[in-house]
Amino acid sequence: MNVWPSKKRTAAAILLIALVVLVVSNLLTLGGVGLEVSAMVAEVYIAPRNDLVLANPYQDVDWYRHAQYKANLHTHTRQSDGLHSVAQVIDAYHRAGYHILALTDHDAVTWPWEEYGRNPEDLGMLAVQGNEISHAHHIGSYFCDYNIVSRRYLPVIGGIGRSANVSEEEILTGIAENNGLAVFFHPGYHGYPPQFYASLYSQLPHLIGMEVANGKLPLQDHEIWDLVLTMLMPERPVWGFANDDLHIMWHLGRAFNVFPLPELSEAELRSAMERGSFYFSYGSAAPVIKSILVDNDGGVVAINGDGWEAVAWISDGSVIHRGAALDFHNTANIGAYIRAELTGEGGVTYTQPFGVSILQ
Ligand SMILES: [Zn+2]
Ligand SMILES: [Zn+2]
Repeated sequence: MNVWPSKKRTAAAILLIALVVLVVSNLLTLGGVGLEVSAMVAEVYIAPRNDLVLANPYQDVDWYRHAQYKANLHTHTRQSDGLHSVAQVIDAYHRAGYHILALTDHDAVTWPWEEYGRNPEDLGMLAVQGNEISHAHHIGSYFCDYNIVSRRYLPVIGGIGRSANVSEEEILTGIAENNGLAVFFHPGYHGYPPQFYASLYSQLPHLIGMEVANGKLPLQDHEIWDLVLTMLMPERPVWGFANDDLHIMWHLGRAFNVFPLPELSEAELRSAMERGSFYFSYGSAAPVIKSILVDNDGGVVAINGDGWEAVAWISDGSVIHRGAALDFHNTANIGAYIRAELTGEGGVTYTQPFGVSILQ
């Protein structure tokens, strides 16, 4: 007996095929990286040693005096393919309690805000000059007006026409020549191998980091981050970022950075971005870090925070310890760096990586 009419059967078959293709393609792009990590872990045992020292990216942070400023550094408006006007987007972040915002329209520098009817000083906000350069691997460019115009962007719809034929190296050189800072956006969306990133990070000091969490897509790219860190640390840290990539209001608040700063200024923000003295979160009510203490003599790093249920310490891509404090002189499998992830009901908060060296 035929329960389903044939049209419905055809539709169901197409759906099933689409699902299989989706699952297989996901396995091919994400699964490969995951397998490499676990293979790497199984082979190596590193004995604990009491002469390890940590490079602390938070060493200049005064956790008790500095205010913590919430920042979104990847945002779209109608100046590219966002749904909302510049003023609507600024007002929404202001209402949500953000103090730092970079509008990063595709191949457009939406700055200064005064041109769009908003004064950051009146709002108590820091307006970061930004651009998502979108011709090759998408790259966030900050503190400069470098741009390559080739396509036109329509709100919501996206780019019309061809992107310029330029390499990541050329784009990054352009940002450097204009005294800007650069961050690779949503690496998981592009699927490049870790060697691609490692080679550029090791050559270019102004290429400061990688967007580890993206609220829109949504992505948590800690696997590729760990692979790159394992290749480069402790010599070359790559700072992690988390951003909404807001196109529509419901993306707001999904992923953000928190900067403890002595004052809200462009100079302090830029310096914190370069030194990695900030943390980042995925999930609107993710855990908050109140302080991080590093004691290299005692061999302890400890986190004090709110809203977490578990803290995992990660080194070279694998969990080496669980708990708010890590006794790194008596813990096995500590490689080139350590970093922590605080997990709670409201999301995940990531610290930056601490480089591990042997005391000379
Ligand atoms: Zn993008
Ligand atoms: Zn974007």
